[in-house]
Amino acid sequence: MIFTNIKNFLLDLFFPKFCLGCQKEGTYLCDDCRTLLDISEYNYCLCNTKPQRLPPDQKSGKCQRCQDKKLSGLFSALPYKEKTLTRKLIYQFKYQPYLKDLAKTLASILIEHFVISGKNTDEIWENSVLIPVPLHKKKLKIRGYNQSEELAKELSKILQIPVLSDILVKIKSTKPQMELKKEEREKNLEGVFAVSDTAKFAGKKIFLVDDVYTTGSTMEECAKTLKQAGAKNIWGIVIAREE
Ligand SMILES: [Zn+2]
Ligand SMILES: [Zn+2]
Repeated sequence: MIFTNIKNFLLDLFFPKFCLGCQKEGTYLCDDCRTLLDISEYNYCLCNTKPQRLPPDQKSGKCQRCQDKKLSGLFSALPYKEKTLTRKLIYQFKYQPYLKDLAKTLASILIEHFVISGKNTDEIWENSVLIPVPLHKKKLKIRGYNQSEELAKELSKILQIPVLSDILVKIKSTKPQMELKKEEREKNLEGVFAVSDTAKFAGKKIFLVDDVYTTGSTMEECAKTLKQAGAKNIWGIVIAREE
């Protein structure tokens, strides 16, 4: 503990943190800028176009139109589009300057979403595991860390749920989904994930963790792979959702 404190002290000394919203020194997101974020009080279904706001007491995460999705539902804390600050937070978490430490801030935003949307109940989180959406090892080498795993680790500390990091692996390298047309995205992902050690998640609810949900094809493919390996109930957790 003392060592960690000294390490953090030295890190802050040489690499002081600045708010990504207003440049104020001390943290990546100051309280003033945090209040500007539109942390959602609601949950929405999985539909890509016009997702439906779900009634707070509804157990299912889907509407009539998205019943065929492999995922059971999605938790997303922020809308992605209109907020430059949200984009900035996520971008700098994944790309240069690789602010790995942003995982703590982003996890706390998700926790606030769970609290204000009434989802911090034992019923939701008991008997569950967190599984980060994996990166291919080539990409992991470039970035040095898997941002989804860092986020899952921070969530795990607060929610007291284990993270299973090596269960779902990405066995093929893919083109960035953003560069592809909608039809090409699913094809790009076919057979890219694999599962090991199914005993670790047998009978548990799985929460897949990723940074952003765009068309949902990545999470769907992960859910498909996990379902083929015997998983039944798989939900997604993302910081932001593109609509
Ligand atoms: Zn600020
Ligand atoms: Zn729907």
